[in-house]
Amino acid sequence: MNFNMSVSENIIQLKREIPDTVTLVAVSKTKAVPEIMEAYNTGHRIFGENKIQEMEAKWKEMPKDVEWHMIGHVQRNKVKYMAPFVSLIHAVDSLKLLKEINKQARKNNRVINCLIQIKIAEEESKFGLSEAAAREILASEAFQSMEHVNVLGVMGMATFTENEAQLVKEFQKLKAFFDTYKNKYGFTEISMGMSGDYAVAIAQGSTMIRVGSAIFGKRNYS
Ligand SMILES: *Cc1c(COP(=O)(O)O)cnc(C)c1O
Repeated sequence: MNFNMSVSENIIQLKREIPDTVTLVAVSKTKAVPEIMEAYNTGHRIFGENKIQEMEAKWKEMPKDVEWHMIGHVQRNKVKYMAPFVSLIHAVDSLKLLKEINKQARKNNRVINCLIQIKIAEEESKFGLSEAAAREILASEAFQSMEHVNVLGVMGMATFTENEAQLVKEFQKLKAFFDTYKNKYGFTEISMGMSGDYAVAIAQGSTMIRVGSAIFGKRNYS
C-alpha cells in the first residue's frame, strides 16, 4: 500500500488491510501529541513508544483510555515511571528486569503484561534473548512465583532487509518458539512486524504489529 497520505488516512487504510485478529500498535515515538491525536481521533487507542520518559509525558497529556505499549529496550531503574499505567512491555530480555517489573507492579497493585524478546535477527546490534536463555527464565522458580507479571508471549525484530526469504526464516523461528510453549505458558501474542515487513510477519503468524513510519511518516531525531 501507499503510505503518504495523512496520518488518519494512513491508519484507517492500514487497519482495513490487516486481519481483524492482528493488533496494530501505532508507534508514535518522536511524534508530537497533536499528530498522535490525529490517529486517536480515528478511534485508535494503542500506541507504542521506545523511551519511558517520553511515553510518561504523553500519557499525562493524552486521554486516559490510551493503551501505552513500551516497545523499546527497558532500563531497570526506569520501570517505576511506567509501572502505574503501561499496558504491555514488549522487550523483556532478562530475569532481573522481570523481577523489577514484578516489584513495581506490586507497588502499584497491578499485574503488568509482558512479552519476552527473542533474538531472531542475524544482525549483531539487536537486543533479545537466545531461545535457550528464554526457556531458562520461563522455567525458573523465580519467574513461576511472580504474581504481578503476566507473560503473554514473545516479541522479535527481524533483520532490516528486503530479502523476503530471510524475513520468513526469522519470523518462523519466533513462531516455532511460540508454538512450542503456548500451551505450557498460556501464550497468546507474537509481536512481530514493522512498517517494512508487517505483511510478511502477518503471513508467518504475527498477532501484533508495531508500525510507525508507515502511519506517521519519517521520524525526525534532531
Ligand atoms: C521504531 C520501532 C518500530 C516501528 O518502526 P517503523 O519501521 O517506523 O514501523 C517497531 N518496533 C520497534 C521495537 C521500534 O523501536
